[in-house]
Amino acid sequence: MNLNFKMSELIHSDKAIEHNINNMPDINSLDNMLDLIVFCLQPVRELLKKPMIITSGYRNSQVNKLVNGKSNSQHLKGQAVDFVVKGETIESIIFKIRTSGIEYDQLINEYGRWVHISYNKGNNRMMVLKM
Ligand SMILES: [Zn+2]
Repeated sequence: MNLNFKMSELIHSDKAIEHNINNMPDINSLDNMLDLIVFCLQPVRELLKKPMIITSGYRNSQVNKLVNGKSNSQHLKGQAVDFVVKGETIESIIFKIRTSGIEYDQLINEYGRWVHISYNKGNNRMMVLKM
């Protein structure tokens, strides 16, 4: 399998850089991130046939606090990313994913500005939400 994603895309955080925080995932989060990529993000990438611009991926607790993330956020476990795709509306991305058969835990339209998608191996709820 040829994966389109780079580790750096999933751990990059402007907030972490700004505050000189090492946003390196622990080994369990890394394991979750690989499942997220292999079983969810890569199939979505192939469905959309366009690059996904990841705006937030893994967040350690310091970074999560700085971006006002929920204390139980799946970003903390490496199970979620936020992304946008050039030339696609958030609504269109969500529609394509939810009608594709791709497995996910939560698929959220966040403020009409980005898509949040998470994957929780063996416990995917297939929830579609709007915030
Ligand atoms: Zn998110």
